Amino acid sequence: MLRQYELVEKVRSYDPDADEAMINRAYVFSMQKHGSQKRASGDPYYSHPIEVAGILTDLHLDDETIVTAILHDTIEDTVATPEEVEKHFGPNVARLVDGVTKLSKIEAQSESQRAAENLRKFLLAMSGDIRVLLVKLADRLHNMRTLHFIKSEEKRRRIARETMDIYAPLAERIGMYEFMTEMQTLAFRELEPDAYASIAKRLEQLHKGEGDLIERIARGLKAHLEANGVEAQVQGREKHPYSIWRKMAERHVSFEQLSDVMAFRAVVGSVEECYQTLGLIHRRWPVVPGRFKDFISTPKRNGYRSLHTTIIHDEQMRIEIQIRTAEMHAQAEHGLAAHWAYKEGVPEEATADHPWISDLVEILEHAASAEELLEHTRMAMYQDRIFAFTPKGELIQLPKGATPVDFAYAVHTDLGDQTVGAKINGRVMPLRTPLENGDQVEILVSKAQHPQPAWLTFVVTGKARAKIRRFVKSKEREETIALGRKIYEEIVQRLPQPLGWEAMAEALKRLHFPDDATLMEAIALKRVSDVAVMEALIPGSTGKDGVKPPPQRTAISIKGLTPGVAFKLAECCHPIPGDRIVGLRREDEEIEVHAIGCDSLAAGIDADWVDLAWGDESDGGTARLCVVVRNEPGALAAVAGVLGNYGANIVSMEQASRDGSFHTFRFDVEVHDVQHLMRIIAALRATEAVSSAERL
Ligand code: MN
Repeated sequence: MLRQYELVEKVRSYDPDADEAMINRAYVFSMQKHGSQKRASGDPYYSHPIEVAGILTDLHLDDETIVTAILHDTIEDTVATPEEVEKHFGPNVARLVDGVTKLSKIEAQSESQRAAENLRKFLLAMSGDIRVLLVKLADRLHNMRTLHFIKSEEKRRRIARETMDIYAPLAERIGMYEFMTEMQTLAFRELEPDAYASIAKRLEQLHKGEGDLIERIARGLKAHLEANGVEAQVQGREKHPYSIWRKMAERHVSFEQLSDVMAFRAVVGSVEECYQTLGLIHRRWPVVPGRFKDFISTPKRNGYRSLHTTIIHDEQMRIEIQIRTAEMHAQAEHGLAAHWAYKEGVPEEATADHPWISDLVEILEHAASAEELLEHTRMAMYQDRIFAFTPKGELIQLPKGATPVDFAYAVHTDLGDQTVGAKINGRVMPLRTPLENGDQVEILVSKAQHPQPAWLTFVVTGKARAKIRRFVKSKEREETIALGRKIYEEIVQRLPQPLGWEAMAEALKRLHFPDDATLMEAIALKRVSDVAVMEALIPGSTGKDGVKPPPQRTAISIKGLTPGVAFKLAECCHPIPGDRIVGLRREDEEIEVHAIGCDSLAAGIDADWVDLAWGDESDGGTARLCVVVRNEPGALAAVAGVLGNYGANIVSMEQASRDGSFHTFRFDVEVHDVQHLMRIIAALRATEAVSSAERL
């Protein structure tokens, strides 16, 4: 156990100006308050906060942080009050201790009780001063080191799981890889004892079989660099069991196949020497393709810089090599804390250096519901991330699987809304293309564009999803009302006499609709029949002679074509009456009629373009629909039922994809015209089993 004077000595060794008296006061305060409390190990409880403080001295943290560590459990676990802490140690320490206490309270709650509201508060508190998080991480690390003393297996597993899911990723996010590695190793040993044991055993065998292989390779690397004029410190290590296990799981390989279990690090004097070292190594040994990464020219979001490469060494082993300067090394090991050492409390700077914190705060401020918050938070903290560039070189961080649409929304909401296409690394690519690390993405925009429902099938970020959903919802209602209005006009035409000027107001009363928009919506969704509308407008009208039947149209005619000229409706876009159309005329071929906006028009750039319009008599066409339905019994029957009700003949149907709880179908259906189609789409969207319906 760390002694009081040892702790003070440690702090003074890197900060001669530290407030020694305050540290001593904190030591006594903590010891008195915790009194005779014991740890599961049987040690007096106050040994724990002292050890936590000790861990933080390794990171050269300031006296306030050290004092906070010593006091971190006093509010939660003893009779001490925040007022007392403030009185003895000042407002800064009081605020820090309060932050850590809030974090601990969340931890103590059951999973379902860990309300977003609390999470929001503590993350906000934390984002104000990153030292709170550093103390919490050190606290968790010490608890993991002493985890084996806890008797209850269930409790041990819960703590280990939480460490794996929350604290190790947090440590990684702020670049504290040493903390992360140790937490993962300890948690892995608890969660997967068999896997841990077998990997540890295999690593041991590897040592026995090959002696000091790591030592030998490290010496060889160093000698090779020195022979070429580069002074380097070379260290080798085995990867830790958890990272080996994860690799085995990810790549579905066995331990034998997993050759790169060793990693080496060369620390050199300057950035120039980093690249020089890389060149020397690449010329001497074969390089494993696809493994080279330059985090010096493109640092990770958490500030990590290094060159990474993997080579096949003389021993026929794949080995990973990291090349960095001493400064980069310090930062890599201690992350944010390396910046922090010797500095006064500068929370703004911490936030500026680490945009993920401000990202989190932004999400916290704006998240509407607890669920949404958790979704975002999980996303922000735990998902694997990729980094893509804007054309101006701005780095955009996205979750893995993110598409250009996600990228556009991450840059700016307006950019997302107006996206029509994307160039990835200079080439036009589909909007659903998953981005890769380092991609440069240029978003092509049009002021006339708005969010497309189809984007929902591939975007992965919460922000994009929310923006698109909101737009689609309001747009759908608008479209439905507009469609209802058109149908209403048709209905009015069928009445035997013109409407009086109060007819609409009367009709709304009779049908109990609050306003005409709601009535139009009901008409479009067929919630009210044509006959009911007519009766409401002019009571008794449908019984009389003179009611006209619904309009019937039959033939296709196209204005702009010489009669008798052969044409065909293009298969790619399935234009139907009401669509704006254009004809492509190629030599000796019939004219292809395309919808304007059809993608394949671009390929017809050298054909003659003929300006066309639908004739008044036109009827019918095949429209292609993309319908996403829930994976539940009867869903497809419901869709077929809607199509039947609206007199839309299904020409063909095909399952396009199946994704867990949703299935996507493509239907080709015969429809009269765009209005008919709109009516069908509105009805499909109103069907419970349908998640989305759109024309392709
Ligand atoms: Mn603690």
